[in-house]
Amino acid sequence: MSHPRFDLITFDLDDTLWPCLPAIMAAERRLFEWLRGRLPGMEDVHTIETLRDARRRLMSEHPEIAHDLTRVRRHVLERLFEEYGGNPADVEEGMALFLDQRNRVQLYQDVRPVLSALRRRYTLISVTNGNADVGRIGIADLFHHSLSAAEVGAARPAPALFECALQLADVEPGNALHVGDDPVRDVQAARGLGLTAVWMDRNGQAWPGDLAPPHRRVADLFELQAWLDDRAPVDTV
Ligand SMILES: [Mg+2]
Repeated sequence: MSHPRFDLITFDLDDTLWPCLPAIMAAERRLFEWLRGRLPGMEDVHTIETLRDARRRLMSEHPEIAHDLTRVRRHVLERLFEEYGGNPADVEEGMALFLDQRNRVQLYQDVRPVLSALRRRYTLISVTNGNADVGRIGIADLFHHSLSAAEVGAARPAPALFECALQLADVEPGNALHVGDDPVRDVQAARGLGLTAVWMDRNGQAWPGDLAPPHRRVADLFELQAWLDDRAPVDTV
């Protein structure tokens, strides 16, 4: 049986290459501490959770910016500074502080060895809905290109990130593989465009019964690499 040949592999970032929640929570805590010093009275009304709700509300009221999470966070900060009489010039300092902490992620151990090896055989492109920055994280060298929803104007499951990656690599969807942890935004979105979709299931989750199953489920990148090696022996490439 012949397999499609893969020339391009796209990778989701958050929760595929590192656990996302600890980095976001640390960043939100650090920003909140900073805000307490800047905006007296704010903490009588707001908590990290109410600020999260404010971002969700903003995203549903303004879907046109919902794909740009940095912009959404900046808007909420600007409103907060307005409400509590802060100096608007300080907003950027708060954003810088948040983004610095948000990008202090702990890579899973398989990331560097496996992606370094795959990069020699495939075009690798990272595609993220969030504001993780491969440059700050120190993994830009593992990818040929890195794309974000903010840059391409739409978050997955919209096809823009995949389309942009396919175009950059000059590859047809049938010769591309996507790897990500989210059943809808990664697996369903990729397969809808004709890519092969691998579900990164690091925590042994149950696959949602209402969705078509992924082409492949892997528990880590070593498993992905072993599967790819089986399909395409190294001496033939
Ligand atoms: Mg993810």
